[in-house]
This record gives sequence, structure tokens and C-alpha cells, in this order.
Amino acid sequence: MHKIMTPGPTQVAPNVLQARSLPCTNPDLDVAFVEDYKQLCLKISALLKTEAETLILGGEGILGLEAACASLTEEGDRVLVIDNGVFGKGFQDFVSMYGGVPVLFTGDYRETIDVAALKAFLEDDSDFKYATVVHGDTPSGMLNDVGAITKLLKEYGILTVVDAVSTMFGEALDVSNIDILCGGSQKVISAPPGLTINVVSDDAKAAINARQTPIRSFYANLKVFFNYYEEKWFPYTMPISDINGLRVAIENIEADGEIYERHARIAKATRAAIVASGLKLYANSGYSNTVSVFEVPAGTTAEAILETMKNEHNIMIAGSFDVFAGKIIRIGHMGNNSSVENVAETLAALDKTFAALGVELKASLAEVFEANL
Ligand SMILES: *Cc1c(COP(=O)(O)O)cnc(C)c1O
Repeated sequence: MHKIMTPGPTQVAPNVLQARSLPCTNPDLDVAFVEDYKQLCLKISALLKTEAETLILGGEGILGLEAACASLTEEGDRVLVIDNGVFGKGFQDFVSMYGGVPVLFTGDYRETIDVAALKAFLEDDSDFKYATVVHGDTPSGMLNDVGAITKLLKEYGILTVVDAVSTMFGEALDVSNIDILCGGSQKVISAPPGLTINVVSDDAKAAINARQTPIRSFYANLKVFFNYYEEKWFPYTMPISDINGLRVAIENIEADGEIYERHARIAKATRAAIVASGLKLYANSGYSNTVSVFEVPAGTTAEAILETMKNEHNIMIAGSFDVFAGKIIRIGHMGNNSSVENVAETLAALDKTFAALGVELKASLAEVFEANL
């Protein structure tokens, strides 16, 4: 087994693996399961400091993004898609798939979204049912100021959908103006892939309940969950082992008094190491504390770096995809990956990898990292 230092999935703790192997009740028939599910949802909302209702759906993180769009979008609805990365832009497909009309607000992919420019755009055109924005756009490591962006959108009466799949619990977030917040089990939360989290505000519920037309999906339909607790009924058999694992992963986060600070400290030291070594960070602003991204230096390839790391050092880091394929390398220091030991080991292996590939660094990544903690 390789050590995974990828920006999701992340390393899973032994107590989470153990919880996933517990004997199962029948989640359709056992009301204790409904109660346990509800308590876990309440705990997630409390940790996020929101009154909005958490729902946990059986399906990987993408399901949460699709469920938000499927549940809100009606034929002809105009939707503002805030785009400065692959996931940001990708929302347009979910919007149009469900009959909506996506309107893109596109920013430079190396820069965080400019809130003043967005305000100027909204002055001209703010006739949108909802807007989508990504907190941490993982393929490029771009972080957006979602607190400021959603506050602005709400001033214009626009509902807000936020993809926080890769940042939830790794990056502090003001959720007070978010109508549907999307998370996933396999990033900072450090459970295996398989569950998505949708945190749904009363405004979002009201908009969904006020639809003129039925939601064009069953599996990506949030409305079918709205009365699960009163009716003691789920729309499909819930993946109980995944949920048992998630519960322990969330308890691990609850017990960790300094999760946000640790992510920030490790990310800052990692970026300092990248800069001092002469490698180039991909972004010019908006650095996520969950993943560090640098450009593939001249004289080598992404594939050579990744293969050497895996084959010679038993550590899996990531390249990227879409417009970034072959151009950048990503170190995922999120969730359980985000420890000094894990990142120090990864950077020491990267030092050796670049030496083996004939790329000369100006300073040792591992040494600068340790010096900046
Ligand atoms: C991981 C992730 C998702 C979920 O998609 P994957 O199929 O796991 O890549 C959605 N949004 C963001 C920003 C993510 O990082």
C-alpha cells in the first residue's frame, strides 16, 4: 500500500475502518437507525455552526453538487455560475442538465474571485434564482472568499450553492449566507468515498417546496428527504456501514481542538518550502490550506515526478486534470494527511525525486518546511 498524500481520498483512521466493519441492523426497519442518523446530522450542523439541516446522501461528493442543482432548478431558471476553476465551471453542466440557463461569471484561474468585480457584474444583472461557487477548487488549489461572495449574493436576493467538498472542516467558513452547502466524506473528513453532505437552509427548502414542476430526479432529489424523521422513512436503504464510519470520522474532528489551525500552519510551511526551493506555486492568490499546487518545472514531466514518488518512495501525490493535465502537481495536506510527519516525509521524498530527475532545487523542501512550522 502507498501512503496517499492526494487531495482526496485521504488517509482513513483505524477507528473509522473499525466502525465500518460493525454488524449492521436493517436501516429500513430499525427506528434506532433513524435516530442515530438524525443525531449525526445535528452534530455536523453544530460543528459547522449552523441551524440549517444537514442531510447525508449515499453517493460520492459529486452527488451533492448534482442534488443541489437538480432540486433547485426548474425549466428556464437563470443560474449564475461563478467560475475560476474546473469544479466552478463544471456547475454549468448540472444547471443545464436540469433545464436551467447557466450564466458564467468567469475569473482568472490563477486568482481568487474578485468580489468588487462580481458586485459590478451584479449591478448590471442580478436576475438569478441561485448562484454556484466553489470554496476550494481542488484541481488548482484555488480558494474563494465564500463568506464575502455569499453575503453579496444574498444582498441581491440570490440563493447560494457552495461546493465545500474539499474544504469542509479544513478551512474555516462563514456559512450564514449559504443555502445549500455541499461536502463529501473522502476529503478533510477522512472517511472513504461514498457519502455526500448537503446542508440545506430554510430558504432553500422553501424554494424547493415552492417549485411549480417536479424535481427531475429521484436519487439527486433533496425533497424526498425532507420528512424522513417524522415519517421514519428513507427514500432508499441507507448505506449504514458508510454512515457508521462517517460518525466516527466526525467524532475525530470534534475531538480535535485545532483542526483549522493545523491545516493553516502546515499549508503555510508547505508553500514557503515550494517558493524557497524555486518551484512555482500555481496560483497568484487564493491559496487553499488543504492542498498545495506547484507547476511542473522545466526538464521533467508530471508523470516522471508522480511515478518516482510512488515507485521509489511509496507515496502517492497527484497531478491534475482537464485544463491542468500534465502541468501541475498537487500535495493533498487535508484531514489525516495534514500532519507534520506526513508532509515532512512527502517533501523529503520530493527532494530526492527532483534530484533523481536532474532538477536542481534552490533549497531543500523538507528543510524549509520544518523551519517554517
Ligand atoms: C473531490 C471534490 C468533489 C467531488 O468529486 P470527485 O469525483 O471526488 O473529484 C467535488 N468538488 C470538489 C471541489 C472536490 O474537491
